[in-house]
Amino acid sequence: MRRNFGRELLRILYPPHCYFCQQAIEEDHYLCGDCSQDMARVEMPYCQYCGESYDGVIEAQFRCPNCSDMELAYGFARASLVSSEASLSLIYGLKYQKQRHLARALAFCMAEVFENDERFMNVENWCLVPIPLHWKRQWRRGFNQSEALAEELSKLVHLPVRKLLKRVRSTKTQTRLSRNQRLENLQGAFRLRPEFQRYKSQSEGVILVDDVFTTGATVNACAAILGQEFPRENIVVLSAVRG
Ligand SMILES: [Zn+2]
Ligand SMILES: [Zn+2]
Repeated sequence: MRRNFGRELLRILYPPHCYFCQQAIEEDHYLCGDCSQDMARVEMPYCQYCGESYDGVIEAQFRCPNCSDMELAYGFARASLVSSEASLSLIYGLKYQKQRHLARALAFCMAEVFENDERFMNVENWCLVPIPLHWKRQWRRGFNQSEALAEELSKLVHLPVRKLLKRVRSTKTQTRLSRNQRLENLQGAFRLRPEFQRYKSQSEGVILVDDVFTTGATVNACAAILGQEFPRENIVVLSAVRG
């Protein structure tokens, strides 16, 4: 009772508003309908493996140049938003300005994929697995942005969050590395957490949740570890933004 009162009071003092246009909004997902719709979504046609979008018509089995030379440890990857000033500004706010609430705005967009991509329609017994950060980086940032996204997404799609992976090696920041350097950089970076055994029987598959999918090297390294326990087609990737 008292907690609700506190929350109500906060809403009166600080009414929720849109992150972009500052317009007051009813729901607390931090984007008004117009600003949300203005952000470009990844739409068909896109590569059925890595989620890269293409102009024109492509065949379902088309393997794009972006991923054709990669050995994928996951079934497929999908992202919700195209990389744009707006989508990257949400990511930047979340990751570097500690605006954790923006995870909710991004999760709303990610949840749309469950509605419009039929490959996400039979995942009732799956779980959401955030990409782990090394504890040092998480400590500096205050939280793990992939975990924040997974937690918000969990409320919308009703799948549990399971932190099955652990980052055991702190790696150099990947931004300036080529794909091969990224793969090398990630060797031995992830491990299954001991709790894994407890959850294994409860999930048929996993959806790896990440903020930005660029080369896919990080998620691929995570999928390779999960592949010790799950068939490859039961490991898929969902990112907020396709970098
Ligand atoms: Zn707005
Ligand atoms: Zn591809």
